[in-house]
Amino acid sequence: MALRYKYNSETCRYEPLVVSPRLLLKKFFRFTAISFLAGLGGLIYYNSHYPWLDEVIREEENARLNSEWRGIHTQLSKTSQKLADVENSDDHNFRVILEMEPLSASQREAGVGGREKASAEIAYPIIRSAMDFSEKINNRLTVEVQSMEELKETFIAKQKEWASRPAIQPINNKNLTHLYLVFGQRMHPLLGYIRPHNGLDFAAPFRSPIYATGDGRVSYASGGTTYGNVVFINHGYGFQTRYAHMNQFIVHVGETVKRGQVIGYVGSTGLSGGTHLHYEVLYKDSFINPIYFFQRDLKSAEFEKLIKQGNSSTSLD
Ligand SMILES: [Zn+2]
Repeated sequence: MALRYKYNSETCRYEPLVVSPRLLLKKFFRFTAISFLAGLGGLIYYNSHYPWLDEVIREEENARLNSEWRGIHTQLSKTSQKLADVENSDDHNFRVILEMEPLSASQREAGVGGREKASAEIAYPIIRSAMDFSEKINNRLTVEVQSMEELKETFIAKQKEWASRPAIQPINNKNLTHLYLVFGQRMHPLLGYIRPHNGLDFAAPFRSPIYATGDGRVSYASGGTTYGNVVFINHGYGFQTRYAHMNQFIVHVGETVKRGQVIGYVGSTGLSGGTHLHYEVLYKDSFINPIYFFQRDLKSAEFEKLIKQGNSSTSLD
């Protein structure tokens, strides 16, 4: 064992350093205490700066769950948006065309809330919110399916109404030689005094076909001194049409007719100043200018031309 020496200034000599067992023991305990405290400090520092392994795994799982939940939420948001587009078309296109009121917000949200939610048992808030979102979409979809069913029923009913409404010319354009547009008060060409003209006059070659302008039932078909051979059609929904001065009618009272069906032929029977069809439209027993019921037969340019060319001061009866 190597000895340690210490210089003694009194004796001016180097003397061997004697270490007592007491001092040795003290040194040993001091060393052990410092080592222990240093180890403890290191452990505390490590624990406060570095997580446990199972905590690391849990955090990774949480991050994955969060990411997957965001994926579900994105999908639900897209579904919700697509459904909103359908709801919007329903309210602002289909219901407008079918003359129906759009569904109110409270009708759209019918079934949401009130009862216990399916998500009540779910512990995790993010999963619960996704469940609530999906339930809300499901309820909106149920309302939309019912609405579509209602639209379908209304559409079928409206189709019947639309088919019944007078909507075409009673004389085909290829046969039309002149349209007398006078409607209302005018000098009667044969009687020589002012009398209302309650329809329009379609001049066409003798025995040109005359068409029913909407679906309906023949309510009158007879010969007379004023209208000549005349047919009345009741279209329902308040509409009637009358076809006068026919050479011949080929339908009978009570017969059901379809739009575009030939009901007779052009002539000049009754009080008539030439071969033509006198055509009237009535709504709730009042005469309406028939021009408003066949505009769609003509392109707008053709219609403008007709208005310009049409004689608006004379008629044929
Ligand atoms: Zn007339």
